[in-house]
Amino acid sequence: MFLRVAVPRPLEEIFVYSCPPELEEQIHVGKRVIVPFGRQRVTGYIIDISKELPSNLSPKITKVEIKPVQVVLDETPLIDDRMLRLCRWASDYYMFPLGMVLKTALSGIPEGRGLKAPGKRYDVLKAFRDENVGSWVKGHGSKEMDMTHDPGPMTLVSKGFSSERSRDNRLSVELTEEQGNVLCRIRESIERGDFAVHLLHGITGSGKTEVYMHAIEEVTKRGKSGIVLVPEIAITPQLITRFAARFGERVAVLHSGLTNAERLGEWIKIREGKADVVIGVRSAVFAPLYNLGLVVADEEHEQTYKQEDGFRYNARDLAVMRAKLSKAVVILGSATPSLDSYYNTRMNKYMYLSLPNRINNRLLPPVTVVDMRKKEGFSIFTDELLDAIKQRIERGEQSLLFLNRRGFSPFLLCLDCGYSPDCPNCSVSLTYHKGEKALCCHYCDYKITPPDTCTQCNGHRFKAFGAGTERVEEELKKIMPDIRIVRMDRDTTSKRGAYHRIFQSMENKEADVLIGTQMVTKGFDLPEITLVGVLLADSTLHLPDFRSAERTFQFLTQVAGRSGRGTKGGEVIIQTFNPNHYSIRYASRHDFEGFYMEESSYRKALGYPPYKRLVRILIKGNNKERVILASEKVKEILSNNKTGEIDLLGPVPAPFSKMRGKCRWHIILKGKEAKLLN
Ligand code: ADP
Ligand code: ZN
Repeated sequence: MFLRVAVPRPLEEIFVYSCPPELEEQIHVGKRVIVPFGRQRVTGYIIDISKELPSNLSPKITKVEIKPVQVVLDETPLIDDRMLRLCRWASDYYMFPLGMVLKTALSGIPEGRGLKAPGKRYDVLKAFRDENVGSWVKGHGSKEMDMTHDPGPMTLVSKGFSSERSRDNRLSVELTEEQGNVLCRIRESIERGDFAVHLLHGITGSGKTEVYMHAIEEVTKRGKSGIVLVPEIAITPQLITRFAARFGERVAVLHSGLTNAERLGEWIKIREGKADVVIGVRSAVFAPLYNLGLVVADEEHEQTYKQEDGFRYNARDLAVMRAKLSKAVVILGSATPSLDSYYNTRMNKYMYLSLPNRINNRLLPPVTVVDMRKKEGFSIFTDELLDAIKQRIERGEQSLLFLNRRGFSPFLLCLDCGYSPDCPNCSVSLTYHKGEKALCCHYCDYKITPPDTCTQCNGHRFKAFGAGTERVEEELKKIMPDIRIVRMDRDTTSKRGAYHRIFQSMENKEADVLIGTQMVTKGFDLPEITLVGVLLADSTLHLPDFRSAERTFQFLTQVAGRSGRGTKGGEVIIQTFNPNHYSIRYASRHDFEGFYMEESSYRKALGYPPYKRLVRILIKGNNKERVILASEKVKEILSNNKTGEIDLLGPVPAPFSKMRGKCRWHIILKGKEAKLLN
């Protein structure tokens, strides 16, 4: 017997091993094996078994060189046929080695130790006491792990505890007529039992989550299972609490804050069929559910669905492919669908469903755009915004202020010579953090004490320019000393439980104002927030990315949606230097369609997605000259080998031409067909 084994190494080849007779009984596609690899032993994945030596071997390999498999690890396969097909597809599409894709799909499973067959009681803790995984646990298994984002209510979920508020939710809500119509269409697809994708375009507060829950109920009562993907666990605490309250023990939650033991516990619970509803971030798209019936991707437009290093994949797109292979139904939900998904509805690839009204006929809040160009000097708050905040305080209501930048100010400037301290490793200026008395790089770990003396001119007059959330808080306190403020950004939520505490102080009305970065723009359903202020809408507008207008529109629409969700109505004030920019104009009118049409026309004219596809080749290195040489070499190879309609752009320095000490250049390929580009 011969096995084809995918090994998690950055190599394209699949390797062939022989199977010693005593292991023949144990081998099966989808099991892991330990194989000799060079001078090492690695854990690989059996992807094919044959009696004959596979014929399409590389000519270098002869039968003599084929080595035997050493250990078959698992009692039953960890990867079933469909999952293997999904991973093969991903490996081709994203051009990433199959062994490494499989490793990602099985992340959280201890390497080098076999899993028992489902049904046998599996002692997770014992697995972690096992000698074989000792070193692995030491590195990863600490319960006290500090998380960047605290899961908040999730800890409650895993302890089988739910708050008063969520207990009310246990009673299934009666759907509104609009929700009912949407569910009806989804139910039709479920009954048809075939692959179908629905784009659920539901404005903020229109009750999408309720539709997801009913749809999940429809599949589980037919004996099938469902996955609910969320962009980040921390920003969707309410969604998870609601699901947990409704589906109880049948819910498994997968996110990056779990310890490896917890993750393995959830994985086994799913595999043994004890959980048929999985909620999780990106990697949950690989959850080992049998009989998948439904995949939901909430906030489908979110960038966080994209994994940006290692195996670069988009979990939303992979979810659609997984559903296709399982003949399952997909719901992509958003108040601000991505241009790509909306385009697919226009091409009749996806079914368009909409919830154009808020629950209980609450209105979307009116938006006022304040033109900062007309203001004398620069202050963080315009009079319009300050008056509105004061009104809220008088009425005992709450405000939310959004600025997409943390820290005190984006840079310090020497008033004598104009010098501003940059990061030595990255081509960005250092952000001033006043409370921490530090200048920090937001891209690497570089941090220094702010200088007293300018290194260029020996001057002593440094001034903080611009504002981040820390400064917004300080300035507001100066103006209104009695105001109760909470701030939510990466600096204030690094400790476990912090996110939840901040959220609760808003929920319990112990705070008047919530100031935050993009963390506050989504997920929250707080009825006492009647004012949303956007301090500087321009901050996302000029990023060197063809999606920056789209992202600005999405930010503004999402954050506006946090206002007026209760009975008291709401209002939004957007401060900007670009009041006429179309993304700001359409967002202020809650006009998705208008934005879509205008943005589409630009994308089409310039040949950007969804009209064309892009591939980006990033060349990084310590030595700038060598990076440039390599870039030119790559360009030359591409030019000599391209076929058909492909544009080559560059090489040019990438945005952030230096990052973490590496010089970065890039080349962009533009073309119509993915296959041709690959
Ligand atoms: P979205 O996810 O679209 O922003 P949610 O699902 O959070 O909206 O719903 C907004 C609010 O309306 C929530 O407080 C939710 O509990 C409530 N809600 C949703 N559907 C109904 C319904 N059919 N009847 C009453 N309340 C509902
Ligand atoms: Zn840096």
